Amino acid sequence: MLKDLHPSDFCELIGLMERSKALVVHKLDDGTITRVIETRNLTEPREDWVRVRIKYSALNYKDALAATGNPGVAQKFPLVPGIDAVGEVVDAISSRFSEGDFVMVAHPDFGTRTDGGYSQFVDVPESWLVKLPEGLTPLECITLGTAGFTAAQCVKALVDSGLEPDDGEVVVTGATGGVGIFAVMLLRLLRYQVVAATGKAERHDDLLRLGASRIVSREDVFDESPRPLLSAKWSGAVDTVGGSTLATVIRSTKPHRTVTACGLVGGHELKLTVYPFILRGVSLIGIDSALVSTADRVEIWRLLTNEWRLNNVIDLATLVPLEGLEQSITEILQGKIFGRVIVRLD
Ligand code: NDP
Repeated sequence: MLKDLHPSDFCELIGLMERSKALVVHKLDDGTITRVIETRNLTEPREDWVRVRIKYSALNYKDALAATGNPGVAQKFPLVPGIDAVGEVVDAISSRFSEGDFVMVAHPDFGTRTDGGYSQFVDVPESWLVKLPEGLTPLECITLGTAGFTAAQCVKALVDSGLEPDDGEVVVTGATGGVGIFAVMLLRLLRYQVVAATGKAERHDDLLRLGASRIVSREDVFDESPRPLLSAKWSGAVDTVGGSTLATVIRSTKPHRTVTACGLVGGHELKLTVYPFILRGVSLIGIDSALVSTADRVEIWRLLTNEWRLNNVIDLATLVPLEGLEQSITEILQGKIFGRVIVRLD
């Protein structure tokens, strides 16, 4: 009798569909942050919300900030972090989605103001969901995730600024991180000369294999001298580090060229004079992956699925169970991760 049941029927029968395992961040009364794996009962989904069985989530730097209770990121407690999630619709009263659809969640509140992807099930408004781009598998999609999307935004901003492949070297800082690595790969795909700036000497060969034409060390793009302008060497830049690294890159950029800024792992302050802007006409473009119009979001994913499709992205994925995240959270905050940590929830 039991052998005729579909696995999901069996789960329903024994009540498993009603419970969801999640990594939950708590803030105790004394301010201490704790992370606990909890199994929660699922309640009825709200009308117009969609229930998604999460297959994969990812670990971004922002997720590690949420997991450690950073007040700029974690906007409520208890909180389930995880800004990226890919999964399958299991319950929907929705005109746009049906059971079995593969979707990704894309909304700035997900994993910061509302519970995110480090959970076996999530309930979200249908407007937060995007169908998986045709041509990408769920694992490819989550491996790219916010990191690949942000890298593509940075590269698109450089391309739109008029940068041509033979204009000279384009630097990528934080090159072995999630955003950095995809920026290196995309720039290479578009035939730019990519200089990867990294703090990981042991990853030089990997970066060269992935498309860097040469490597510089983190220190080479870190100059805290008071000089307002440095020798102009970069024809373009994707900075994922911020702080003094971004200030150094801007002061080292050639006249009328563009720098994109998306990150703050090296600091959120920017100490600069106006000289790079008024004497060299350098442009600084801020990149924000969260508040993006649906049309722009669809276009970036279209590029990543077609002309900008990267081969073998899943080779960059290290899959961990929810229970294995703890070590990765510590490592990403220390800048020790290479590529992408993907959380497997199914
Ligand atoms: P990762 O942690 O994956 O990568 C960051 C990389 O920066 C590290 O791997 C390391 O690379 C380098 N790094 C780490 N610490 C330092 C340091 N103290 N000084 C200099 N370099 C350092 O992060 P992500 O790629 O996920 O994100 C990068 C940044 O972009 C983060 O600040 C993140 O919050 C931000 N971000 C912003 C988005 C937006 O919408 N604006 C979207 C996505 C990310 P290496 O060892 O190679 O130098």
